[in-house]
This record gives sequence, structure tokens and C-alpha cells, in this order.
Amino acid sequence: MFNKRIRIKELLAMEPQGQEVTVMGWVRTFRNNQFIALNDGSTNNNLQVVVELGSQGEELLKRITTSASMKVTGMIVPSLGKGQKMDLKAAHIEILGDSDAEKYPLQPKKHSLEFLREIAHLRFRTNTFGSVFRVRHALAFAIHKFFNEKGFVYMHTPIITASDAEGAGEMFRVSTLPFDQTPRNDKGEVDFKQDFFGRATNLTVSGQLEGELGATAFGEIYTFGPTFRAENSNTARHLAEFWMIEPEMAFYDLEDNMNLAEEFIQYIIRYAMENNREDLEFLAQRLADEEKQLPQDKRSEMGLLEKLDFVLNNGFERLTYTDAIEIRKESNHNKKKKFQYPITGWGMDLQSEHERYLVEKHFKKPVILYNYPAAIKAFYMRQNEDCAPGQPTVAAMDILAPGIGEIVGGSQREERLSKLEDRMKEIGIPLEELWWYLDTRRYGTVPHAGFGLGFERMVQFVTGMTNIRDVIAFPRTPGSAEF
Ligand code: ATP
Ligand code: MN
Repeated sequence: MFNKRIRIKELLAMEPQGQEVTVMGWVRTFRNNQFIALNDGSTNNNLQVVVELGSQGEELLKRITTSASMKVTGMIVPSLGKGQKMDLKAAHIEILGDSDAEKYPLQPKKHSLEFLREIAHLRFRTNTFGSVFRVRHALAFAIHKFFNEKGFVYMHTPIITASDAEGAGEMFRVSTLPFDQTPRNDKGEVDFKQDFFGRATNLTVSGQLEGELGATAFGEIYTFGPTFRAENSNTARHLAEFWMIEPEMAFYDLEDNMNLAEEFIQYIIRYAMENNREDLEFLAQRLADEEKQLPQDKRSEMGLLEKLDFVLNNGFERLTYTDAIEIRKESNHNKKKKFQYPITGWGMDLQSEHERYLVEKHFKKPVILYNYPAAIKAFYMRQNEDCAPGQPTVAAMDILAPGIGEIVGGSQREERLSKLEDRMKEIGIPLEELWWYLDTRRYGTVPHAGFGLGFERMVQFVTGMTNIRDVIAFPRTPGSAEF
């Protein structure tokens, strides 16, 4: 058996009393032909391996280079040096894989995040990305834990879909038709009848519609899977491929929906705070250092840990779209014409600068906006009854987070068949295309609601990483799909 190793994280938690252990990992640095900083990815803290002078041959010492991998057996003893609790006195070192230190792209020095994106295949080996991806893992785990404890059923909705009626964003086509000689029908249009599925298909932009089918049988379900949007928006918060969590719940109204979303977000943050303290402390320091280079007014008012604590201990601000428009219209920011897009009045879609003003400047905490104008929201959202004349709204809710903007989009769904059909006709969605969706409203319809949380935006919020490309392993963005 090869793998009789202890992880460095567990090892560093032990009291060193001369125990014999085996570790495996990659060399971060090697000083004075004597001290190896060894890392195995379980923590940012390196194990100091001490090679006693004269104990190893010259040949072997030369092979101990940055990023070489090795297996070391020896005794752990209290460290004589400052900065670490223990040393591993190497009795036996086996190089598992050599690394040419001259050519190794990740030299042991500070690199920009932009540069690291170009070597994304190696960036996990840095402290920053080590921490980010361990936190990402913890959040993913906490999400399943939360819903499992609540009795939700985890549902896998399809990646390839035929419905293009959701209107959530531009889609990627899935096809096996030859590009150079696409078959045409009588009208000269591409004949998707001859395509693999006998119809036009796309990568999913959301699992919601299928999720609703699950909710109206199981009561409560959630999805957690990849979604795709061919939107050409090169921002720090949009990806062409991202992961989304979409709970759908029967017997929930809009308020139940908001309560769940808030509890859910707090739960997963708390999980990371309790289980990834060390990584979060590292990321908090990283963010603080990064912000030192910014002018005072661009820096966050709270440190990362402080911000997360604050979110755990304070409810989210809830207000209607209509009230939010008023606040912003009346703000000095608007009166001084500091918004790029001025607040024109009720009915306008909110730009991310408006959302950020509200969360970062006005309330200084996460905000749930609800009851949006029907015209700027999707067809399946429930039409509100008590609307002001000429201002029809739907029971939608968005959660806006400081530094990120929209992190959750959700709504109570329209469960009344005739209202849903009317709305679909109004905006030109063919009823027959969504016959299966409408069936849930025909056979035992119930009030129900749900939301979608963009996983990478959540990871951004918790890790303090400013660019979404730095919280997913291999980002897909316009013009970029390396690795
Ligand atoms: P935005 O206005 O920021 O583009 P959206 O209104 O298109 O968001 P929804 O369709 O409601 O977003 O999707 C639900 C959630 O998915 C959003 O709240 C967000 O967290 C996340 N999300 C949406 N688009 C992207 C994207 N391109 N990359 C990463 N996450 C996204
Ligand atoms: Mn969008």
C-alpha cells in the first residue's frame, strides 16, 4: 500500500512528541540545503521538513526544487525555529516527481491575479487559490447539508433543453448538424428536424421550469448544477458557464421564499466561518492588502470577516421596488447626477450601479427588493393583486449583496392557469411549447415559489475575490475557454 500518509493540516494540529509519520506533497521552497517548506494542499500552512546536514546525498538534494513532489518519512519534534510549531526531521526522502525550477511558471514570489489566470492549471498551488477553492468546496457541501436537513429532494435537471421560452439569457446551441452544409427546409431555414434530437436544442440557462415539476410532486426540491449563458457581457460578475442553486417549494408564498433565502445564505456563510476559519483569515488579509492600494473612498468599510459576521447577525433589509426607486430618486447621488443611468422613474430596470448604491451606500447591508414591475420580469412570476393603477407588479424578489450586486433572483410563481396563459400570450410565448409546464397548473396547482442563487457570486461574497473568474476553476468567458 502506497498511501499511508497523514495530511499536513492534521499533522500540524498534533503535539509533536517524536512520532514517526509519512507525508507527501510539493516543495514550496528549499532554503540553505536544509529547510523544505512542504505543502500538500490541505492547508496554506507548510510543514517544515528539516534535512540534517550530511544525511542525504548531493544527488538527492539537487532534486529538491520548487514544486518537486516527494514522500517524506521521519519524526515530528518541536521546532527550534520561530514561525512554526513543529519540524519533521526527515529520515527518508523519496522524490516522486522532479520539477525543473528554471522553467516552472509559478516562481515563488507575488503574482498578479491576471497573470495567474493565464496559468490557471497551476494556480491552485498558490495560497490565495488554495484558500478560495477550499472555501468553495465548503460552501458546496454546506448547501447540500442545509437542504438535506430541511428535507428537500436534490433534483438533477437536464443540461440540454429544448425550451427556449425562459428568456433568462442568450443560449448556446447544441447540435450535431454539419456547420458547412446545414440541411434546409422548404423555407430555406435550418432544418432542425434532421438534428440529433429532431429539434433545436440548447444548453440550459436555468433548471427552474423542470424544478417546478419536481416541487409540485415532492413539495420541496433543489437543483445545483451548471448553467450556461451566451451573454456577451465582459464583467467581473458574469460567466458563460456558472453553477446555480435553484430551490423550488410548493406551498410557499413570496415571504416564505425570502425567509428561506435569508436563512440559507446565513447558514452556508456560518458553515464556512466555522470550518474554514484559517482560509477566511488569509483571504481577509489578502483583501485588506489589495485595498490598501485603492483610494480611501473605494475601500470597503468593513474587513471580510467583519462583513460576514455582520451578515450573520443582521437581517437583510426588505423593501419594495417602488420604495427603492423613491430612495434613489431622492438621493443626493441622483440629484448630483452621479449615476451613469439617471433614475427616470417607476418601471425602469435597475442598473448594477443603482443596486450597489442601495446596498453599499444607503443600507450598508444585503437588501431584498420585491414586487417588481411585471414588464421587466419573467412570464412565470405571480401577478400581484393590489397594485397601484397603471403599475402592475409581480411577486418577484432579488437579493443584492454589497460588492457584488444581484446574488439571488426569485419569485412566487404564477399558479393560476388562466393568468399564466394570458401573460404568455401577451408576450408571445407559444403555449404549446410549454404544455408540460402548464400541466402542473391543470392538475392540482398550488401556490409555490423558488429562487436561483448564483454559486460563484456567493463564493465571491464569502472569499472577497473581486473578479468572478477567480472563484471558478476554469472560467468560460467571451473569447476564453483555455484549459
Ligand atoms: P444579472 O442581472 O446580474 O445578469 P440575472 O438577472 O440575469 O442577473 P437570473 O437570471 O435571475 O440573473 O439568475 C439567477 C442568479 O444567477 C443571479 O442572481 C446571479 O447570482 C446568477 N447569475 C446570473 N447570470 C450569471 C452569469 N452570467 N454568471 C454568473 N452568475 C450569474
Ligand atoms: Mn443577466
